[in-house]
Amino acid sequence: MPTCRMCTQNYPNSQFISGNGPRYQVCVRCATENDMLAEGEQSNLYSDELAKSRSALFARRYRPWAFLGAGWILYLSFGSGIELWSDLLLTALVIGSLATPVLHFLSKTKFRAELARITP
Ligand SMILES: [Zn+2]
Repeated sequence: MPTCRMCTQNYPNSQFISGNGPRYQVCVRCATENDMLAEGEQSNLYSDELAKSRSALFARRYRPWAFLGAGWILYLSFGSGIELWSDLLLTALVIGSLATPVLHFLSKTKFRAELARITP
């Protein structure tokens, strides 16, 4: 892994711009910050939009776990004392606890594909 001349960080070769003179061994990040990218040259850093869609994707994937955890905490703290509602809540929690890992596993491939699509 070569070292960037400007920030002295190590990056893989794909993160360097090509060229001689001032452009020699400069990483994409420093090139972007110093306006050294030529016309039409794209930096493959994470854009705002990309970062947003990535965090949305991760949130979508882990939201069921968060709900499940919150539900169990609710049930274990004070949910077991209410007639009827406790049974309904417990039923929903048991079903959720059984279904969430299965759904999580089943959607793994789709998640990987979507993540790869929004990874520069
Ligand atoms: Zn650099």
